[in-house]
Amino acid sequence: MGCPARGSIERTASAWIAFARGIEPVLTGPVEAPRVTSVEQWQAALEEAGTLAPEAAKAIVSLHGDRGARAIEAVSEDRVKQYRDFTVVVGHSGEHVVENGGCTCKDAEYNLDRDDPAQRCWHALAVEIARRVDRVDHHDMWYSDVRDFL
Ligand SMILES: [Zn+2]
Repeated sequence: MGCPARGSIERTASAWIAFARGIEPVLTGPVEAPRVTSVEQWQAALEEAGTLAPEAAKAIVSLHGDRGARAIEAVSEDRVKQYRDFTVVVGHSGEHVVENGGCTCKDAEYNLDRDDPAQRCWHALAVEIARRVDRVDHHDMWYSDVRDFL
């Protein structure tokens, strides 16, 4: 663990998380704003930049709230792991497998509408972000071999 050579993205991400957390939650009720478009916008912005630019980080946190902030933190700490068989996000309370935008965590299971791309748990968001900014931590092994998750 520990790779201190990457300074810039961590500073950028954490600065924008701090900034965005100071803003009142925007989505407090039924909102007519085109949320799907916004998701597509930050995803496109990440793909174009190939890095987690402040504008994209701000958009992610304003759209996804604390889930977005946690996702950015996870990406900046290289907690998105790609195994041969599964994509796994390491959280503070365990690891979760993310497949096709779905996740094994309780947040995804109980709180979120899987058909709405704006509703993603932070694990799924972390995967979406990490893939676009090339921050996935690759492991040339089978997750099913290293982890009893059933
Ligand atoms: Zn999850």
